[in-house]
Amino acid sequence: MKKVKVATVWLDGCSGCHMSLLDIDAAVIALAGKIDIVYGPLVDAQEFPEGVDVTLVEGAVSSLEDAHRIDLIRQRTNILIALGDCAVTGNVPAMRNKVPVAKLLQRVYVEGADTGKVIPTDGVPALNRHARPLQEFVKVDIHVPGCPPPAKAILGLLGDLLEGRKPAANPKVKFG
Ligand code: SF4
Repeated sequence: MKKVKVATVWLDGCSGCHMSLLDIDAAVIALAGKIDIVYGPLVDAQEFPEGVDVTLVEGAVSSLEDAHRIDLIRQRTNILIALGDCAVTGNVPAMRNKVPVAKLLQRVYVEGADTGKVIPTDGVPALNRHARPLQEFVKVDIHVPGCPPPAKAILGLLGDLLEGRKPAANPKVKFG
């Protein structure tokens, strides 16, 4: 049987949603027989590939680089899943939205630092004015709230998709 190509992506998030994905523990063995993880922090792929069946995206869109990445991911993905509150609503990254970016960076890297009072620019993507949820940039097929979503919810979702079922809304998964 042809394996389902799955990618995971980490935009502006804390990695907690990926940790929850790893929390599916032993169930990962059964999943491994049905899916190929073709891109993400869990594998060593440099470029997002073409023809991905399912992509789970953690985190908000906070920079131009994030916006370009999510555009490319959308073009190359059949089913795009916003995984976790940051991807669904902006959540933690969006808490900065009321503070102008220059003021925020000054406060964190200069006023708030004991040493090396420099705002980093080398290799660091410039922040957009606001951190925004995925749906403001691309069409999202499935939203999975939670901070992070419980492992069981992620497993249930993947199980539904692998069996060709439309994922049912899980009443036990909630924001926060
Ligand atoms: S939803 Fe929560 S756990 Fe997931 S990336 Fe955002 S802050 Fe981290």
